[in-house]
Amino acid sequence: MSSTPLLFPENLKSWASSTAKSGYHVYIETFGCQMNEYDTELVRSIMKARGFQFTLEDEEADVILFNTCAIRENAHNRLYGHLARYKTRKQERGLVIGVLGCMAQNLKQELLDTRSWIDVLVGPDAYRRLPDLLTEALESQRQGLAVDLSEYETYAQIVPDRTGGVNGWIAVMRGCDNFCSFCVVPYTRGRERSREPEGILEETQLLASQGVRQITLLGQNVNSYRSSGWDFARLLVGVADVPGIQRVRFTSPHPKDFPPALLEAVAQHSTICNQIHLPLQSGNDRMLERMGRCYTRREYLTLVEAIRNKGPIVLTTDLICGFCGETDEEFQDTYDLVKEMQYQAAFVFKYSERKHTIAARKYPDDIPDQVKGYRTNRLIELQKEISLYKNQALLGTEVEVMIEGNSKKSDQQWMGHTEHNVTVVWSKDDLTRAPGDLASIFIQDATPSTLYGIVTRGGGGSEK
Ligand code: SF4
Repeated sequence: MSSTPLLFPENLKSWASSTAKSGYHVYIETFGCQMNEYDTELVRSIMKARGFQFTLEDEEADVILFNTCAIRENAHNRLYGHLARYKTRKQERGLVIGVLGCMAQNLKQELLDTRSWIDVLVGPDAYRRLPDLLTEALESQRQGLAVDLSEYETYAQIVPDRTGGVNGWIAVMRGCDNFCSFCVVPYTRGRERSREPEGILEETQLLASQGVRQITLLGQNVNSYRSSGWDFARLLVGVADVPGIQRVRFTSPHPKDFPPALLEAVAQHSTICNQIHLPLQSGNDRMLERMGRCYTRREYLTLVEAIRNKGPIVLTTDLICGFCGETDEEFQDTYDLVKEMQYQAAFVFKYSERKHTIAARKYPDDIPDQVKGYRTNRLIELQKEISLYKNQALLGTEVEVMIEGNSKKSDQQWMGHTEHNVTVVWSKDDLTRAPGDLASIFIQDATPSTLYGIVTRGGGGSEK
């Protein structure tokens, strides 16, 4: 492996050609997936190195940035709502407004045509140019555009500017070469590129030294990870072996090329969580073919059987309702398969056509919105029943949970997750505990999404 030194926000200054006047305040809002959250941490790091400061109060900001998601319609609509609000403030106070990420990449022309007052548009591979473009917008009122996709950019040496906590995310690769027909990611994030394993392991060690205990490795299809002779299974085990790291998860592996070595790593390694996110999308072969998923219902079932034969590994999934031409019977195939699979959780999405995708070019988006909504609600209700059933099976048992912080509703309660990624909430009755500690919780109540209980003892050790 070749060694590439990591760059922290402080020493990034020597890397960046600093022309920026320091002291501008930036407010950034992030939409979408964990990869976008990670990219926001990279953006913060790159910009802090050039003297920009971040604020949580948009009223204090000179610059408002939106790191956007192009995957679904509602993410678009949320951005447009926010932009309308800030347009008025921009007219009153002269704010600089920037749109980053997947929408900047995929909808650049539409954004420039309909909202020409946006100052800066920067795609996911061009964040290193952001400080210069913002400086020009702030000091010369010059509009900036950087939407080139790169075959090489992985931001490998840049240490993301994290905001603390026991959870850490690490992008191990960027882009996607799969071109599922409904998906815009290959167009917004470009071709697959993997980071060097050494940099990923160094980043893990750094996070461990900062108190991170749970790591999630991110990639659009982690099965494709290849670098310096390492595949993803080897990398996963390497990360799981870093001292101080107690739990490792990953998202997402594609069912079409799930490697046996990865399953072996999940089943055998005590630090790798017994949970796999395995996106199904549809349970019907004609839909799977139209979606370009490269597996059949039978092949997916065979993979699940192999996973379940390895032990108590919990599955979660993604599902799309109302894809182009989906008949009632084809939807029913998905419904029946979800019943059979008994996922712990499922993210169910109503299909919405994305510009530039294969589906947008090839198939009419012909399922009425009402039908899409009906099917989506049926699957959500089914999954809720399954999740509740699975969670209720834990009533009266003890589960091991890592404390992550206060619950959303009260600072008198802790919140954490089980190894299977189920949320657990319990009362803070022992003040010696802190985030990062393991606790054993006796489960007394369950909803489809959350378990409630009382602490029985301090935890520790392996969950397997
Ligand atoms: S694997 Fe398919 S769904 Fe996932 S990011 Fe790539 S193209 Fe999109």
